[in-house]
Amino acid sequence: MNVTTASTATGRAGAGTAARATGLSKVHGEGETRVVALDDVNVVFGQGEFTAIMGPSGSGKSTLMHCLAGLDTATSGSVTIGDTELVGLRDRQLTRLRRERIGFVFQAFNLLPTLSALENITLPLDIAGRRPDEQWIARVIDAVGLAGRLAHRPSQLSGGQQQRVACARALASKPGIVFADEPTGNLDSRTGAEILGFLRTSVDELGQTVVMVTHDPVAAGYADRVVFLADGRVVDEFRLPTADTVLDRMRRLEPAGRTTRRTT
Ligand code: ADP
Ligand code: MG
Repeated sequence: MNVTTASTATGRAGAGTAARATGLSKVHGEGETRVVALDDVNVVFGQGEFTAIMGPSGSGKSTLMHCLAGLDTATSGSVTIGDTELVGLRDRQLTRLRRERIGFVFQAFNLLPTLSALENITLPLDIAGRRPDEQWIARVIDAVGLAGRLAHRPSQLSGGQQQRVACARALASKPGIVFADEPTGNLDSRTGAEILGFLRTSVDELGQTVVMVTHDPVAAGYADRVVFLADGRVVDEFRLPTADTVLDRMRRLEPAGRTTRRTT
């Protein structure tokens, strides 16, 4: 195969890269159930940037996030977090890298019901045996507006507050990058806007790097850049998205009448 310079596919290289996928492919199953979820994906996420990933249901968004975050292994290709290549890491090294350098926010909050908000936020650090950076934790808690709710259990919090706890937990270790897979998918639009506002703040004021999967053009409008997937491939991207420009691009990707419901 004739491989030209890496910059052809991805632009910016080297310093300032929080995460990178190169020639990333992921095949699920085999024979009749074989599904190519990712097909030669090349994408770079710059440090201190907020990127939205969009695309029809089944286009590979979650698979891409999981491969980037080391929660799933690719079939071929490479993933780097900062300068670290994920492919070939041993389980323990990968677990450690995930704990120390990656934050993850899920659609379904995934908080532990028996722990208080504060205990949930510091749990990953406790598991890692790391002493929390008190000043940083205080800033994060302040930024998510949870100061008055730290002793509450998840069941005593609204959905939006639970997701704010999950965001604070993702940021607690000051990770190099935060991945959020449809973080506002279970929230009403007002509460969703609070979470998006917080993710924006974490980039602008705390210097975080955020990659967020969303279906929602309004949510994508909070990002610095939007990347579109279709059938496991990156088909477009642009900067400074607005809800209108994103909606317009989505309409062209997803022809009218096509169902967005998962058929598998
Ligand atoms: P999205 O998040 O964009 O909706 P996914 O990444 O979840 O898409 O899925 C991409 C494709 O891979 C879909 O066709 C899906 O059915 C398939 N897929 C995802 N996970 C698995 C799995 N564990 N086993 C088999 N197929 C899967
Ligand atoms: Mg998904």
